[in-house]
Amino acid sequence: MVHVTRIVIIGGGPGGYEAALVAAQLGAEVTVVDRDGLGGSAVLTDCVPSKTLIATAEVMTGFDSSHGELGITLACDSPERAISVDLGKVNRRVKRLAIAQSHDITQSVTRAGVTVLRGRGRLGTGGQAADGSREVLVDAVDGTTQSLRADAVLISTGAHPRELPDAAPDGERILTWTQVYDLDELPRELIVVGSGVTGAEFAGAYQALGSKVTLVSSRDRVLPGEDPDAAEVLEDVFRRRGMNVMGRTRAEGAKRVGDRVEVTLGDGTVITGTHCLMAVGSIPNTADMGLEEAGVKLNDWGQIKVDRVSRTSAPGVYAAGDCTGVFMLASVAAMQGRIAMYHALGDAVQPLNLKTVSSNVFTDPEIATVGYTAADVSCGKMDAVEVKLPLRGNPRAKMQGIRDGFVKLFCRPGTGIVVGGVVVAPRASELIHSISLAVDNNLTVEQVASAFTVYPSLSGSTAEAARQLHIRKRAETDS
Ligand SMILES: Cc1cc2nc3c(=O)[nH]c(=O)nc-3n(C[C@H](O)[C@H](O)[C@H](O)COP(=O)(O)OP(=O)(O)OC[C@H]3O[C@@H](n4cnc5c(N)ncnc54)[C@H](O)[C@@H]3O)c2cc1C
Repeated sequence: MVHVTRIVIIGGGPGGYEAALVAAQLGAEVTVVDRDGLGGSAVLTDCVPSKTLIATAEVMTGFDSSHGELGITLACDSPERAISVDLGKVNRRVKRLAIAQSHDITQSVTRAGVTVLRGRGRLGTGGQAADGSREVLVDAVDGTTQSLRADAVLISTGAHPRELPDAAPDGERILTWTQVYDLDELPRELIVVGSGVTGAEFAGAYQALGSKVTLVSSRDRVLPGEDPDAAEVLEDVFRRRGMNVMGRTRAEGAKRVGDRVEVTLGDGTVITGTHCLMAVGSIPNTADMGLEEAGVKLNDWGQIKVDRVSRTSAPGVYAAGDCTGVFMLASVAAMQGRIAMYHALGDAVQPLNLKTVSSNVFTDPEIATVGYTAADVSCGKMDAVEVKLPLRGNPRAKMQGIRDGFVKLFCRPGTGIVVGGVVVAPRASELIHSISLAVDNNLTVEQVASAFTVYPSLSGSTAEAARQLHIRKRAETDS
């Protein structure tokens, strides 16, 4: 029997608002406490704004890289770029869209019967009461504090950009990814520090918009966490387009000197640009929330430890999203939040399965991934055979002038069950779905190969890779 009825959610990003919708649907009395606006950083500063900016960058790249080859000439004799971007206008669109989406989410959550409170939430010091409930305190901007009682609490407070001690952002020239949307003019020379997903996405986008970009990477290659073949393709494309990619180079500090920024590197070299974007990771929003006092255990990075149904170490307290550091994606945050509510409210619940998560790097080309990876195979975590098909052999790719990219599939050697895949292509985020379906449903390469694909289409390469794996798998099994 369901006995949990009062749910308080601290943080209204994807982890929080998706949980609120589920809890309301299951009949709970739900309150969401949020500091900055529903949708969270995902909608207001991170995911939605960056992808909106990248939408403009994509048009620029598509035009720049293929118009000549496709027979398009420009009625313009300027040797400079024939098309240019009004960054002020782009950024106003980015912010408008983000606010509209936050507004839409607030409306749908409110329509579902959820109470939304603006303020900073934290756990009360009293621990669990005799009836199992907990206190949540809400500090409003007017200085008042409200006390709420909850049968279950969800912490979904997200994370914020990490700053280097010697590179304090000033919001004008030295920037975090949340501050770039206040720029009115395109940075002429942009130094991006950090070559993880965020650094690579912004470096690629600003280069396409017209900035001269230097990407400072402390690792051997860009995107150290991604498929190595995919990262190699992207780094090659970046360099060909004129980006200065500095590998194995650590930035120690950044300072503003007049209208320029000086970035000091590990070996003492100083590089300069007009702007610097710091993309050096994020810090969970878990400080000063009464978590440890309430028995909620954190790891060394301050992230909340959770199990696969989003339970923390404190009874009745759940956590979801970036504050747990599990897999920092909006889709995973939302899934963790929903799972927490199914569990808290006694509904059927499937524990979180990270091996079916699909993710995408929104560069050009995009890099989409699902399931087990090349690293899992090489370290023996998964026994799988692989096939990689370059897109340059695909008829549709040839027609569209696409040269960079590939489809890679991994399957079990005996059964042929598809366990993972990587797509590097324009709109790989859309193409990965067929592989996601295969991984999620334990489909075999034979099943993937036997489904019709449109001719000509990029997805034809997925079916072709599956066909080749059928033969490779047979050869491996016979030997
Ligand atoms: C530049 C960038 C691009 C990204 N792009 C993508 C993408 O394309 N796809 C994808 O899946 N993921 C993307 N991500 C990751 C994604 O944004 C996060 O995984 C997602 O935001 C996590 O959601 P969340 O609910 O945990 O937290 P958030 O979205 O961070 O929301 C947390 C909310 O809690 C509020 N809050 C914090 N502390 C308190 C408190 N004490 N009391 C009340 N409220 C509080 C915050 O104000 C915020 O509103 C991107 C991240 C970055 C940095």
